[in-house]
Amino acid sequence: MDLGLRGKTAIVCAASKGLGRASAMALAREGVALVINARGKDALAATADDIRAATGVDVQAIAADITTASGRAAVLEAAPAPDILINNAGGPPAGNFATLTPEQWHAALEANMLTPIALIQAVIAGMRARRFGRIVNITSASVKSPIPTLGLSNGARAGLTGFVAGVAREVARDNVTINNLLPGPFLTDRLRDNMRAAAASAKRSVDEEIALRAKANPTGRVGDPAEFGAACAFLCGVQAGFIVGQNLLIDGGAFNATLG
Ligand code: NAP
Repeated sequence: MDLGLRGKTAIVCAASKGLGRASAMALAREGVALVINARGKDALAATADDIRAATGVDVQAIAADITTASGRAAVLEAAPAPDILINNAGGPPAGNFATLTPEQWHAALEANMLTPIALIQAVIAGMRARRFGRIVNITSASVKSPIPTLGLSNGARAGLTGFVAGVAREVARDNVTINNLLPGPFLTDRLRDNMRAAAASAKRSVDEEIALRAKANPTGRVGDPAEFGAACAFLCGVQAGFIVGQNLLIDGGAFNATLG
């Protein structure tokens, strides 16, 4: 399916690795010019090279911390009028809920709630005026089904989800859609990091821990980031204009419910 995106421009935040990278690659395969971002310069440059080599699209790589005002300004300077915005950032650290500090809360809110909101605010007026915009926020399955050790993620992402639920309905009339993608377990560095504590306490290797999680999933495996990227690109396509304010879980069926 041609998603009708050839010649459009996207900002993909936190995109040197994992789900952000896969989303950037999937958009590039549709002919979308990219501004990609991450903090580490080398991995970001390597990803930009890979995407250019695979697709031939224009890729600008902005090495910056997207959770800072200066980082966001640098990204927006590279793409002041994007057609597509993929909001993403690193996930907050795991921890016992009873010991989470105000500093940890502020960092989590900045990364997983206030940064995506600031970027939405920065780009949405232009999208509305141009009568086309697609915003996808990468959140987490933890929005639907809280993960006990990830209180910061459960809480901060729920705030973004509430904000998006309202705004999505306000801007849909102008062919601007905002949706959230909720990843379950995908094979990325983040998944390996999250498995480390459980693996250590069970005296298993991280690979063994991931294999156990994979076995417990209805699909019998963990997700391939490319599958996530494809779903993200579809939500950005011209055909997806009637999908508004949704929270799409991509978890292999791990969330056990008859209705979401
Ligand atoms: P990942 O493989 O660890 O990749 C994270 C990417 O974000 C890297 O490119 C990293 O590059 C960049 N990044 C991190 N902090 C950043 C910042 N402050 N500014 C700019 N770039 C930043 O992680 P992932 O698995 O793709 O996860 C993406 C998001 O999905 C995270 O919020 C994660 O919590 C969430 N999630 C993932 C899973 C999963 O199974 N993978 C499940 C649920 C939710 P630098 O470090 O160089 O900046």
